[in-house]
Amino acid sequence: MSNASFFSNHDTIVAVATAAGKGAIAVIRLSGLQAVQIANSVFKGKDLRTQASHTIHFGTIRDGARLVDEVLVSLFLAPHSYTKENVVEISCHGSDYIVQEIIKLLLKNGARLAQAGEFTKRAFLNGQFDLAQAEAVADLIAADSSKSHEVALKQMRGGFSAEIKALRAQLIHFASLIELELDFGEEDVEFADRSALENLIHELQRLIRNLLQSFALGNVIKNGVPTVIVGKPNAGKSTLLNVLLNEEKAIVSDVPGTTRDFIEDETSIEGISFRFIDTAGLRETQDKVEAIGVERSRQKIEEAALIIYLFDVNELTPADLALELQSLNSNGKPVLAVANKVDLASNLNQAAYEAVTPILFIAAADKTGIELLKEKLISTVNQGNLNTGSSTIVTNLRHYTSLEQTYQALDAVLQGLSTGISGDFLAADIRRALYALGEITGDITTDDLLENIFSKFCIGK
Ligand code: GDP
Repeated sequence: MSNASFFSNHDTIVAVATAAGKGAIAVIRLSGLQAVQIANSVFKGKDLRTQASHTIHFGTIRDGARLVDEVLVSLFLAPHSYTKENVVEISCHGSDYIVQEIIKLLLKNGARLAQAGEFTKRAFLNGQFDLAQAEAVADLIAADSSKSHEVALKQMRGGFSAEIKALRAQLIHFASLIELELDFGEEDVEFADRSALENLIHELQRLIRNLLQSFALGNVIKNGVPTVIVGKPNAGKSTLLNVLLNEEKAIVSDVPGTTRDFIEDETSIEGISFRFIDTAGLRETQDKVEAIGVERSRQKIEEAALIIYLFDVNELTPADLALELQSLNSNGKPVLAVANKVDLASNLNQAAYEAVTPILFIAAADKTGIELLKEKLISTVNQGNLNTGSSTIVTNLRHYTSLEQTYQALDAVLQGLSTGISGDFLAADIRRALYALGEITGDITTDDLLENIFSKFCIGK
């Protein structure tokens, strides 16, 4: 389906574009054919209808004779605006009351309230950017670390889309050659060089595999690395959590088992966001409240991508440590063993512990060894499964699913090639791959798909 079929919306929409609450200013945005006329009907100052695009005008908003606010109005005339429609932005004082009053006035004068994501949806439908770029707008707004910002920005500026479009263009070339063969019907012609097609598909699959693998890292960059800290009561878990978060969040106490529930918070280390989860530990317990905590700890280990096993080096022998690590049941997730309270240890036999597993020695209370621990956290994320052969990183589950479908369709093409299947079957499998790739950038769209994507945006975006 082409984008053109969605140009049904001639309404002028309005929403506040800034966050709710008291700020110095708030921005109300109007978009649509009537945006300038509607703004002009509540604005006292220059006649906005005769002003040039990309100009700003001081004036007042009035409800009849009543003065509502002094404002600045910015004009962006079609097609030189975010939505490619006429856009008016009213910067008013940042009171929710004023914002509501102005929006009510605009509604009375012919605007309607924007739906979630409608500004960005219009921008997409009017060809401002493709679907993957539109989605990146939401990611950019949500970005809370330098890495997530970098990835969203690259996607919004079209880096990801360019890669997908290049893949698609090569495939379209072959699809058209094969379809040309079909036009010749009975005649036994082959325009599409089968071995070149096979090579192309192997190359496409390699690229797609890299993109699929990048999703693990992409997910981590976007949502943070869930990292659970486990260990016996009094090992120093809360103290370590506080140090990592640089603030007093968890309750630190000398009474074993004080961290009854888990405490969760996020911090950014070298641009990667870590979600640290402190737990009540895994000790078998008679205490009912704590028993619930222990059960939750098990759940948190399930959810974690990375586990820090923290122990008091003065309380646990190397042999005990080996047993504890065995019973941890980490499901193959990376476990960092961290020995705490080295400040209290005299004659510490580091080698005996290191014979069990690689160990980091720290004293959480006086921050000894914390920098090394942070480095280790980063290198664990960058290594192994999370590593990616692609400079483009997939962060979006929808894109991941489409890439998987493309990969499977390409598998079918390969199989068809190896069994010398007829051209029309080959063409059908190639088209299936093209369809899945096209869904990523929005070359192929359906109402459901758009609804699904833009309804997740907030109103005003
Ligand atoms: P949790 O039960 O594992 O959360 O342990 P806490 O963080 O509550 O710490 C238990 C006790 O050990 C507290 O009194 C902390 O001050 C103390 N503690 C934590 N880390 C260290 C450390 O590195 N050195 C010393 N000497 N004491 C520590």
